[in-house]
Amino acid sequence: MKNNTSLREIGEILANADSVLIFPHISPDGDALGSAAGLYRVLTAAGKKCAVVLEEEVPEYLSFMPVEGCTRDQSVIDNPDVTVCVDCSEPNRIPGRIQLFEKGKISVCIDHHINPEGYGDYYYIDENTAAASELIYELIGEMGLPIDKDTATLLYTGIVTDTGSFQYSNTTASTHRIAAELMEAGVSVNNVSVAVYQNVSREQTIAEALILEKMEIFADGKGAISYVTAEELASAGATTDDTEKVIDRLRDIKGVEIAAFLKPKGGDVKVSLRAKTYGDVQKIAREFGGGGHKKAAGCTISGDIAEAANEVKKLIKESLEN
Ligand code: 5GP
Ligand code: MN
Repeated sequence: MKNNTSLREIGEILANADSVLIFPHISPDGDALGSAAGLYRVLTAAGKKCAVVLEEEVPEYLSFMPVEGCTRDQSVIDNPDVTVCVDCSEPNRIPGRIQLFEKGKISVCIDHHINPEGYGDYYYIDENTAAASELIYELIGEMGLPIDKDTATLLYTGIVTDTGSFQYSNTTASTHRIAAELMEAGVSVNNVSVAVYQNVSREQTIAEALILEKMEIFADGKGAISYVTAEELASAGATTDDTEKVIDRLRDIKGVEIAAFLKPKGGDVKVSLRAKTYGDVQKIAREFGGGGHKKAAGCTISGDIAEAANEVKKLIKESLEN
């Protein structure tokens, strides 16, 4: 049964649970991890047995986050009362954990991505919210539970990363109000900023230089695209984690409206798409079976990376011409 419910109702479901498994999306970003680990901390403090179930290790660039309770052990809790997926409302974003998610006596999705279909027994999707971490903040408020400094840091990191430091149009007055309250709960803004933005390795910098060098600007300067191969990454001594920020560099170029970056991922090609003002990259991602938001979306394509880049470029061009 699908039911777009309220955070209050989800709070009641969680309050009545003894055991809760939490699922952020694959390739977790700051918001996925922040919202998952933040929820883990408050529920654990409230005496519940909890775990955050991942399909991979916490990425190195997010290792500063006070993340606890993460495991890849799918038998960490038998027969969980409630399973919650956060920052994710599509089963294909928890591909290796769907069966475990569905094992919850009640399954719940809390998300801010566009997905009119919903997923889980209960879901709460608010696409006008900048970050899933904001929704978790509101949920904690509904449950009347306290937020300590580490929880505040997790949620604040989710908000900072998903709003591009409060730059994107998803940033609302409420986003700032929540950020202020998280600061009052003890967040060090400087510590988070240094960890997230002023902590770039030499390898990452070299990989970015190489990727920017080979970028292509097209559609009268409104499109920008680049990609990196496994061999190029190896030559820079870098990994795909080191390319997380390059899509922002492409989007930041004067006049560029839509930017795309492609990288190898497990034999396939992972595509990141960004729009600056009026573009809609979610539509483009959907064409390849992906999704996301109007201004930030992604998808996975199989096949040769240079050919995939051509396909993506073609659709961006069409989208910019319409
Ligand atoms: P990123 O480029 O940072 O990986 O993703 C940008 C946005 O698109 C994020 O909100 C992310 O959740 C979403 N996204 C990325 N890849 C996929 C995908 O394959 N499928 C769906 N549905 N969303 C994606
Ligand atoms: Mn998010």
